[in-house]
Formats: sequence, C-alpha cells, structure tokens
Amino acid sequence: MTKKIAVLPGDGIGQEIVAEAVKVIERLKQAYGLDVELEQGLVGGSAYDETGSPLPEETLQLAKESDSILLGAVGGYKWESLDIAVRPEKGLLGLRAELELFANLRPAILYPQLADASTLKPEVVSGLDIMIVRELTGGIYFGKPRGVRTLDNGEREGYNTLVYRESEISRISKVAFDIAARRDNRVCSVDKANVLECTELWREVVTKEALAFSNIELSHMYVDNAAMQLVREPKQFDVMVTTNMFGDILSDCAAMLTGSIGMLPSASLDINSKGMYEPIHGSAPDIAGQNIANPLATILSVAMMLRYSLNDADNAERIEAAVNKVLDDGLRTQDIYSDGMNKVSTSEMGDAVIAGL
Ligand code: NAD
Repeated sequence: MTKKIAVLPGDGIGQEIVAEAVKVIERLKQAYGLDVELEQGLVGGSAYDETGSPLPEETLQLAKESDSILLGAVGGYKWESLDIAVRPEKGLLGLRAELELFANLRPAILYPQLADASTLKPEVVSGLDIMIVRELTGGIYFGKPRGVRTLDNGEREGYNTLVYRESEISRISKVAFDIAARRDNRVCSVDKANVLECTELWREVVTKEALAFSNIELSHMYVDNAAMQLVREPKQFDVMVTTNMFGDILSDCAAMLTGSIGMLPSASLDINSKGMYEPIHGSAPDIAGQNIANPLATILSVAMMLRYSLNDADNAERIEAAVNKVLDDGLRTQDIYSDGMNKVSTSEMGDAVIAGL
C-alpha cells in the first residue's frame, strides 16, 4: 500500500536541503519502486507569515494522516521578536506533542572519510556509530510543579520536578532494545540512580524490560561517567538510552564528537513507530538561500525514515551507500571541506547522491 510522507521544509536552509532529500525519494520511486506519495505543508516562520500560526491546522492534519514526516528546520532572525506563543519553534514542539513522539533517536556517526573534522584524535572517533535514544515527552522538562516562587524571607526560589511513570520508562526502553536488536545488541542505560530516586526507578524498570530481550546485553552507567566515557572512548557504546534532560545533553556531546553538524539525521517516534525525521541542525539563517548548506543530514534522515518507520532497509542502505560513495569521491560542501577535496554546492551534492543511487 502506498505510504504517505508529509514534507515540511520549514525555514532558512530547510527549503534547500529538503528539496535535495525529495529528489532522492523521487529517484528511489523511479528506480527501485519505492511506493510513497509526498505532500508538502507549512511549518515554522514561513507558516506564520502565511497563516498567522507556526503550526496551521492543515499541517497538523497532514502530519496526523501521514505515515511519516520529513522536516527541514524552523526559525530565523526574522521571527525572533515574535510572542513566544507563535515563534517558529512552537511549530516543532506542537508537532512532537500532538503526535506523542516520545522516543528521540540521535545517531552519532563519523564517516572515516571525515575523521579529521572532529576535535578528537581520529583513532578515537573514526568509524564511530552510536545511537542515543532519548525520552522526549517526560522528565524534568515537563514535570509539575514547576516555577519560581517567593519565600517568606523575600528570597526567590526556582523549582522543577523530575518525574517518570513506569509506563514511560518501559516504552522507551523497549524502543532502545528493539533498535539494539538491529545493531550490535548492546544497550547502556544512563541514569543518576545513586542520587535521584526517580532514576533509581528508571534503572529498575529498564532492567525488568530487558528480561524479554534475551539477546541484548544491558549495562548501566551514571550520567557523569557517561559524559566522561563519551569523550574518552566513545566507540565502547552501541545504543544508549536515557531521560529527556540527560539525553538532551549527551546527544549534543555525541554529535559534536563527529564535528559535522551537517551530517547527522534524527528521528522522533511514537508508540507505533510513526516518526518525524529531521537533521539535528537548525535553519542556519547565516547561510540560507546561498545553495551552500550540506543536504546530507536531511538525506540521511530519509534513510532513517525508511528503516524505522517504513520497514524498507534495502532502500535505506542504498541511500547510506550512495552517501558513502560521494564522500569517497571527495565531494564536500563547505562545512566539511578540507584541502584537496572537491567543493560542491547543496544541489550538486544532492545530484551526486542521486547519481550514486
Ligand atoms: P544552526 O544549526 O542553524 O546553525 C549553527 C551553525 O552551523 C551555523 O553556522 C550554520 O551555518 C551551520 N550549519 C547548520 N546546518 C548546516 C548545514 N546543513 N550545512 C552547513 N552548515 C550548517 O543553529 P543556530 O544558528 O543556533 O540556530 C539558527 C536557527 O535555527 C534559530 O532560529 C534556531 O532556533 C533554529 N533551530 C532550529 C532547530 C530545528 O528546527 N530542529 C534546531 C536548532 C536550531
């Protein structure tokens, strides 16, 4: 049955990089019988300009009725002074909340061809391939009570609540175990169980859920050690699963191990593996409209979509192999360029991937 993909380019370079990803999908349809239909929608600042809302009802409906969503990026200087309720980022947060996308998958992959882009020694990071599974809709970012109150002595006090229900921990650990089963079968659960009761429960529930996955090797690590190990010896990890806040921090750290923000895709999944796929970077207003942005993170987001939501590992591998080939051939957009390589534009990079397919 034909699957439907909602295509939401958003703002800034979102328009340019999503156009290249769409070209890749069209090529897979034509050459390998990929059975999908695409429908475009507005989100972010460009949606606000046209409709007065960063997440128009029409876009939300489109996202709900689609099997998957491909998003570019939202935001830009133009909308920074808007009221917070209609800022472009509200479009993205609204989609995550409305679609209950609770599992954030953030791979940190360093292609050996780009090992020099990392600030770490090439031997520490070359060939790195970690998947961080971050809980996205719970934890301290959403827990109540929260706020700033004034005490009897007139001093102000800020407070937030770290809270996780067993069901929330159990569903995110299952996602991590499922993903590890398609990789190297190893999951490291990151917590602070020595200090926080909430993550003591986290550890207990993850351990219980692991019993149903006999092939998975589960380990636990405190978050401070995990941060240290990510920088010291990152290749020891396969899949890491953790809370919203710890995942927020660790996934950015892991992304930076690779040194190339324009290369990394991400996914946010619901309970049925319906997902929203997007590059980890933003709308890069500083380079928007110049045809110089790196489209590979968005193109690799399509590969993730095929693998995790559309059950099409063959076409996912085709895209990944084509990306590998363009890197082998020395093609580089300016963000990953180094001496002796062949500098190409956004559209030339997209064309090269298509040729590689
Ligand atoms: P950014 O990721 O947009 O840019 C950071 C730096 O990386 C910039 O110098 C940019 O030119 C460069 N860069 C990013 N993607 C690139 C690519 N594909 N190719 C080449 N270079 C690339 O982050 P920022 O500058 O902090 O934010 C800019 C806007 O994007 C803000 O409005 C912010 O709110 C928004 N943002 C959106 C998302 C999202 O939509 N998911 C995520 C982060 C930031």
